[in-house]
Amino acid sequence: MKAVHARSLQTTMRDLGPSMIDRETTLPCPCSSEPFARLARCNELLDALPPAARGRLQERRLIVHANDVLFGCQQQTLDVYFPSRNTVLSLVRTTDEGPQVEVGMVGSEGFAGLDVMLVRGTRNETAAIAQTGGEVACISARLLHAEFSSEPQTRMLISGYAGMFLEHVSQTAVCNGVHTIAQRLAKWLLALHERTGSIDVVVSHEALSRILGTQRPAVTLAIGALKNAEVIVHSRRSIHLHDLPALRARACACSESMHDSLSVFRAQLGNARRASARPVTD
Ligand SMILES: [Zn+2]
Repeated sequence: MKAVHARSLQTTMRDLGPSMIDRETTLPCPCSSEPFARLARCNELLDALPPAARGRLQERRLIVHANDVLFGCQQQTLDVYFPSRNTVLSLVRTTDEGPQVEVGMVGSEGFAGLDVMLVRGTRNETAAIAQTGGEVACISARLLHAEFSSEPQTRMLISGYAGMFLEHVSQTAVCNGVHTIAQRLAKWLLALHERTGSIDVVVSHEALSRILGTQRPAVTLAIGALKNAEVIVHSRRSIHLHDLPALRARACACSESMHDSLSVFRAQLGNARRASARPVTD
């Protein structure tokens, strides 16, 4: 893994590569019907903020690649990161013994660094790692906290995100203790698909072992079960989601529960976005 420094990269769609652009054409963006060059840059939460508040955030754009570390455990960061559509970040905790476990997934519905914004000046206990490459808006935690404190609409939306994220973390804790590796793998693949719109996942067994908090042989068995049932097609570092209904049937009930809460929050963002766009009348 390599660390991403808060560099102001010159962003163009060419930087995202043709595969990212192709994926944009397969899934309409919930934010708007603008051309895909704009869609790849949207973060649903940022786009739902009042325009004046967003203008004060002085966002910077970064291109990240898979496995880039946006911030690490036990590091102090001054920024939070809002992934654009198709970009997914993995929030990872490291145990004292060394192994890492994914505790949360962040797509264009939210941002990495909720704790950084709420409790500024402390060291992160969670690392943020790019699961897929793409574009990320980097925003000062101080500026976002100022908007959260003073702007009611911003506070309502970030509080809504915090509530949904906490629910997902709680559900993941239950899931990790109760459900099988195969069920959790299916759930994770569906959660990633929901955020990227892609049916092709590039991920190594090592990364899946970290994500699921288990040993690599268990990951190999779980992948083998899905492959033998023709739910996925698997090659060395890539998983093709061949049969989504069958994948849903093999995931634990947590998958549907987390999908439902994400859908409710996205609907809240959509309502806020439409309200912001509506002309003010007396
Ligand atoms: Zn579960």
